[in-house]
Amino acid sequence: MDEYTTFLEKAKKLHGGVCAGVVMGIRMSMAAMRELGMDPAKQNKDLIVYVEVDRCMTDGVQAVTGCTLGHRNLKYNDHGKFVATFINMSSGKAIRASAKDDTCKSSHGFWKWAENLFKGNGKCEPSPTPEDMEEGVEIVSGLPEEELLVLEEIQFEVPENDIPGFPKHIATCEICNEHVMDGKELLLGGKIICRSCACKENLLKELFEL
Ligand SMILES: [Zn+2]
Ligand SMILES: [Zn+2]
Repeated sequence: MDEYTTFLEKAKKLHGGVCAGVVMGIRMSMAAMRELGMDPAKQNKDLIVYVEVDRCMTDGVQAVTGCTLGHRNLKYNDHGKFVATFINMSSGKAIRASAKDDTCKSSHGFWKWAENLFKGNGKCEPSPTPEDMEEGVEIVSGLPEEELLVLEEIQFEVPENDIPGFPKHIATCEICNEHVMDGKELLLGGKIICRSCACKENLLKELFEL
């Protein structure tokens, strides 16, 4: 079994099936790791990945890289984009992977297929058929890499508190008393506050006597 098929099988188990998004994640990860000089068949302790979506693509990334949220080597930025940045912590090299047809309008890849399903009105009605989904897998798996992906080497500094390992800092929220790790607390009105308390408007009003 070739490497791609091995990861496809792994992703299938993790995701519960194969779809165009999962294949995007697999292909992004294999390409970016090659650019970083990392072998996905091995354990890569120096790899950190920032994904920008909580959708299928991310399971493809996890299947290839082995990075997970629990190990703190997979980071999630809630941007709703099929974009992932792969960092080799030992060399400092960072590769940002995205869909080619996001920027190159003459390319036809994942987004052209997806836009066609959404028929330009932002609504996918009726829902995609199994044939539509199969077509997406075929497009994304069959395209040559240079037509599917953009791989850019970028400057990227991993914030100190994002680095895996034992927490360097633990705070306690002065409102709910719950512990907050890795510098995620806020200092508001002289009080240490967790982000979930800070999201409660009435608590903030009380604190600042608004
Ligand atoms: Zn999926
Ligand atoms: Zn709190």
